[in-house]
Amino acid sequence: MSEPFKIYIDRLRGGANQVIDAQLDPSFLDVNEPDLSFPEPVQLKGDAYLTDEHLIIHLKASAKAIRLCAICNQPTPTEVVVHNFYHTEMIQDIPSAVFDFREVLREALLIEIPLVVECNEGKCPERGAIAPFMSSKERKENPTYFPFTDIDM
Ligand SMILES: [Zn+2]
Repeated sequence: MSEPFKIYIDRLRGGANQVIDAQLDPSFLDVNEPDLSFPEPVQLKGDAYLTDEHLIIHLKASAKAIRLCAICNQPTPTEVVVHNFYHTEMIQDIPSAVFDFREVLREALLIEIPLVVECNEGKCPERGAIAPFMSSKERKENPTYFPFTDIDM
């Protein structure tokens, strides 16, 4: 599929169901964060169809992101999954009769990226090396201790 994000309304008229089953280059996510990368294609599975007045797009989207552990800075893979992406668009609002769902899908995936990851399934081996220097009170009052709160979406 050369235009994987485009839904052609005319092809769906008469009750057709367009199956969406694609592996997309993650560059469409357009993320330029030094500590965030997507090493694998984004998987899409779902379909698109019309009701009387609406285009419905229903997808499961999954990606693998690599973030740096908030404690030890090791690259840490994390799954980013939108289990139930569901987008409706009024057909009359699609004057070109082609709907491009790239932006809405991109936004749905980006909000699923965890702001903070910790390696070793949340048990970073260096956690114990840091904890003695911070009381639990300090940790509560200093959430900015975690350096990834400024992600720009
Ligand atoms: Zn770690």
